[in-house]
Amino acid sequence: MNLATWVERHGRDLRHRPALATGDRVHATWEGFAARTAGVAAGLRGEHGLVPGDRVAIVMKNRPEYLEAMYGAWHAGLVAVPVNARLHRDEIAYILDHSGTRLVVTDAEHADDVEALLDTVESLQAVVLAPGEQWDRLAGASPMRLLDRRPDDAAWLFYTSGTTGRPKGATLTHRNLLMASLSYFADIDAVSADDSVLLAAPLSHGAGLYGLPHVARGAVSVFPKSAALDGPELLTLTNRWPGMSFFAAPIMVKRLAADPALAGADLSRLKTIIYGGAPMYLEDLEAALEAFGPRLAQIYGQGETPMTITALSKADHAPRDDPRRRDRLQSVGLPRTDVEVRVVDPYDRELPVGEVGEVVVRGDVVMAGYWGQPEATEETLRGGWLHTGDVGSFDDDGYLTLRDRSKDLIISGGMNIYPREVEEALLTHPQVDAVAVVGRPDAEWGEAVVAFVVAAEGVQPSVDALDRTCTERIARFKRPKEYYFVEALPTNNYGKVVKRELRERVRSQTAHR
Ligand code: AMP
Repeated sequence: MNLATWVERHGRDLRHRPALATGDRVHATWEGFAARTAGVAAGLRGEHGLVPGDRVAIVMKNRPEYLEAMYGAWHAGLVAVPVNARLHRDEIAYILDHSGTRLVVTDAEHADDVEALLDTVESLQAVVLAPGEQWDRLAGASPMRLLDRRPDDAAWLFYTSGTTGRPKGATLTHRNLLMASLSYFADIDAVSADDSVLLAAPLSHGAGLYGLPHVARGAVSVFPKSAALDGPELLTLTNRWPGMSFFAAPIMVKRLAADPALAGADLSRLKTIIYGGAPMYLEDLEAALEAFGPRLAQIYGQGETPMTITALSKADHAPRDDPRRRDRLQSVGLPRTDVEVRVVDPYDRELPVGEVGEVVVRGDVVMAGYWGQPEATEETLRGGWLHTGDVGSFDDDGYLTLRDRSKDLIISGGMNIYPREVEEALLTHPQVDAVAVVGRPDAEWGEAVVAFVVAAEGVQPSVDALDRTCTERIARFKRPKEYYFVEALPTNNYGKVVKRELRERVRSQTAHR
């Protein structure tokens, strides 16, 4: 099934209901969205001469035209390459070149950067500006019939966030994205045409993926007006568009939870905040539950298995008196309905409950492979299982707890230390606002634990106090040998801490000890 079928269908069954909105204003009804999608498709094929399977990249901030471009490309049988618009021009160039993109849809904010690439990226033949006259002409083209797509046809090249080296393009098929959408209904929430989805995080990543089940069910896609959603805007939008859900990285959830405008506010029209993509620390999660109530659902996923490995449901967040509550909240939940999840040893043998190993996943949601990288594909999908590179263990009840990325594991004096545990411990100190723990090469220990600490405003915890906080909670050998006090942690465009950068930094700085 072609995913653009949803839009075409709602163009008839939900005709006059809102499909796309900017702030409190309706941008398009379903009828309008469907017509523009079919027009964009016709324009891409006719005016620009693209043929099914060609790649169309989207480099723009979140705005309604983003979805017109994406569903328009699908309608025409083309492959969408949503590129994070906050990337550096050279990074964008790499993705366009690697994916063999022929046409880019971009907005005025990014047009200069993208147009300059017409000279350097060989495959690139056209850049189309949206919104504006050029886009309206394309969208106004006489609509073309929806092109049939087979389940295995590529739909979305999802470039990984590349916290280690060059990003890879996970090839997501129509079937992969359909499965991801259906399992949203199975594991997270039912969705109806009376609901809405707020697209606050980059559409090239989690927000775009969670937008799909909402389009499938005819909910309205809402684009915030500001670049950084805050409490007052969230309140205005949930009042205007009830039944609202949105995807947010942990860092964004933490920021919103601390927004004074939300304290005591009526959030009854807010349905679900789906968080994930990076670890959510217990302290921050407790604060978020305090602020938002039982409206949080956690997902654990990867671009390679579009945001679908495990989920910790809203119900799992709720019980206050369950003795396992702490463990539950630190876990990433249960395997999703549409996948098998195992924890394996380095020889791919399944490990028993409680043992820590690599998380592997199998199912119809797992990518077809990495675009143009057969060796990396073979390595990652060996034996028919997606090797996530994440390390974790199952508990007796079947909940998965992640320890860390395998490459972030610290081995000190022959002992395995998972930075996440040390980070969780340090975050319990009231004067610590954020923390990241990495390993530094050490002649005596192999690696030494070092912590980058962002202190709460106006205070500076002492190294002794931090040490005590650790030793009260975790084994002595796990406590940091060095602390670096920093203003902020380096994050990439998806709000993930770039530990590679921290590891490089520890080689050249002096620490507090
Ligand atoms: P990406 O493909 O860029 O979304 O990165 C996926 C990676 O983010 C996963 O392999 C995990 O390491 C991490 N991740 C995703 N969701 C979670 C989560 N809920 N908790 C901890 N880490 C996560």
